[in-house]
Amino acid sequence: MGAELSNRRLGVLGWPVAHSRSPAIHNAAFSALKMEGWRYQRLPVPPHLFEQTVPALHAAGFAGANVTIPHKRAALQIADDASATAREVGAANTLIFLDSGELRAENTDAPGILAALPVPVAGLDAVVLGAGGSARAAIWALASAGANVFVWNRTGARAKALAQELGAEAVSTPLPAQLLVNCTSVGLERSASEDAALNQMQLTADQVGRYPYVVDLVYSDAPTPLLAVAARHGCETVDGLEILVRQGALSFEMWTGVAPPLAVMREAARRVD
Ligand code: NAP
Repeated sequence: MGAELSNRRLGVLGWPVAHSRSPAIHNAAFSALKMEGWRYQRLPVPPHLFEQTVPALHAAGFAGANVTIPHKRAALQIADDASATAREVGAANTLIFLDSGELRAENTDAPGILAALPVPVAGLDAVVLGAGGSARAAIWALASAGANVFVWNRTGARAKALAQELGAEAVSTPLPAQLLVNCTSVGLERSASEDAALNQMQLTADQVGRYPYVVDLVYSDAPTPLLAVAARHGCETVDGLEILVRQGALSFEMWTGVAPPLAVMREAARRVD
């Protein structure tokens, strides 16, 4: 889906959004591909202004936008049209202005997670930790790709409700499985020790070491406590930056119609300014 010549602005709508690495990722891609006029910026918008801000973006030359916390559900609600994935996940992270001016909602979080995984997941047992927005995308993605998904969350009632909605099973403790996917925010807090972080996920280091594949959606410049432990035990790991790049790459292609330069985007995501 290409954009009109004049509509080459993109951005990420969030509140807060100052920490976002998406501008670096997308602007590096535009620069590498010599896509003149395209630029991607932060769009800090508080929740009460979201609904009125989005329509104004099209007139301001935007081809679309990414959407992050706390607007992903609202983005789906205000769109004129939505992909099946966005509707089934119940959230949108990508908005596209069609040439008609209509707003389409897409979800690239879910396919981005699958694209980042090192193995096909059909038939595998997967444990998802968490029951927030990113867990919603991960559970839907894994279940739709044929994995048996088990959901653990600190607040068990949320795990039960989400698992029931998305065709997974809630568990009271993280079970052994082939794949472990952390969708909690544990690991964001860099001062926590590895043991303390694992403890918040009801895991020990030995238990982590028994999952062949360990994925952490949390991203930072150093490995998270979960991925540090997993790597020491020889597990294959995928970090949150790879997932961020993969979802961004899918959005990039939707807006521009151009194949995303993954290596360039990865390098930009990992560059520490
Ligand atoms: P969210 O909707 O706020 O959900 C947070 C989840 O973390 C809930 O399940 C919550 O459990 C759990 N949690 C928070 N503190 C905890 C603690 N101390 N111990 C145990 N569980 C705890 O957040 P989200 O949008 O799902 O995001 C989760 C993480 O993923 C964030 O770090 C975010 O930056 C990252 N993320 C990365 C990407 C990417 O592209 N790599 C995309 C989206 C999100 P309760 O229900 O018990 O509160």
